[in-house]
Amino acid sequence: MANKTLGVYLHIPFCLSKCPYCDFCSIPDADKRTKSRYLSALLKNMTQLSPQAEGYLVDSVFIGGGTPTTLPPQDLKKLIDTLYRAYYVTEDAEFTVEVNPATVTKKYAELLVAWGVNRVSIGLQSADDGELNALGRIHTVRDFEESYRILRDAGVENINLDLMYGIPTQTTESFLNTLKYAVSLGPEHISAYGLQLEPGTPFFENRDSLALPGEDAEYSMYCYAEEYLRENGYEHYEISNYAKPGKRCRHNMKYWNSEPYLGFGAAAHSDFGGCRYGYVSDIRAYTDAVESGGQDGRIYAEREIHTPASTETEYVMLRFRLREGVDKKIYEALFGRSFDSKYAQRLEPFEAGGFVKNDEDSCRLTTDGMYVSNTILSSILDF
Ligand code: SF4
Repeated sequence: MANKTLGVYLHIPFCLSKCPYCDFCSIPDADKRTKSRYLSALLKNMTQLSPQAEGYLVDSVFIGGGTPTTLPPQDLKKLIDTLYRAYYVTEDAEFTVEVNPATVTKKYAELLVAWGVNRVSIGLQSADDGELNALGRIHTVRDFEESYRILRDAGVENINLDLMYGIPTQTTESFLNTLKYAVSLGPEHISAYGLQLEPGTPFFENRDSLALPGEDAEYSMYCYAEEYLRENGYEHYEISNYAKPGKRCRHNMKYWNSEPYLGFGAAAHSDFGGCRYGYVSDIRAYTDAVESGGQDGRIYAEREIHTPASTETEYVMLRFRLREGVDKKIYEALFGRSFDSKYAQRLEPFEAGGFVKNDEDSCRLTTDGMYVSNTILSSILDF
């Protein structure tokens, strides 16, 4: 009997243009043939793996990218139809599609809702046109607002806004204005990410000439987000994520709760059947590998069978991303030893510095601890 739940992610690696800070698997101006071959591969990949998911109920679907809405609606519909045919998607599944402000039309938004999409994630990034320009985004604040209105009018009741801090030319005041603007629209969920300079991107290459706000200002922006969003009814439930009550992202919670998910498409990751793996991020290599049957291993960029040790490390790493952290009773039941016997001593300096709260029942990062989570995790975990 089907009683286990599963998340499904579909990756659409196409965008209208490439933002200079972005290292996601996405290409601008893909030709028709590339898109069509990729889509066929994606459909085949989903169908081939569906027998493995027999007995699972898909309660979250996330179509991300890239910019999924750069696909013609009929192509996105094909993907959705195949998904519904090959997997058991529950009636109340959370179904998210990522959109870019410059790509949402009234017609497209209405189609998304008609096809069962009930959550949309849209990248505002900043409410300042100068900052959007500095980021190389192709939309203005006005474009965004128009898209937001279109989505609401079409009946999308659950919207996430992506915001960014640490943007060239940004100040703490301008970021606070962005927060105020975002909150005034009343989205159900807000993600606020610090800009990362990723190797291989134009931003990384030109990092010395970017007018970045600086570390202190960036930390202030993080604190502003935490305080302002909390005061306005958003729970800071994960390092970069804030939600109104009951509106945590079900799909992302699967990642952080170590629950099973299957990802399809170039660079998509999966954690399923005791194995965690990621597909190659080269679009042609992915397409070729699926077309040739996907049996020879060329489709994988990484593949790792879980061991007891890797499962434990990953569990702690992911739980520490969440506000509630590690529940010590659950940890002990899962791993057969007390959390403190392994971690209390390692965590002491961070506890003394106010970055970690280690109580009798749980252990979690504080707001300051979340800001430096990478440093803390790399010090305490066995990698
Ligand atoms: S729209 Fe998103 S995925 Fe596309 S290039 Fe910009 S940041 Fe990357």
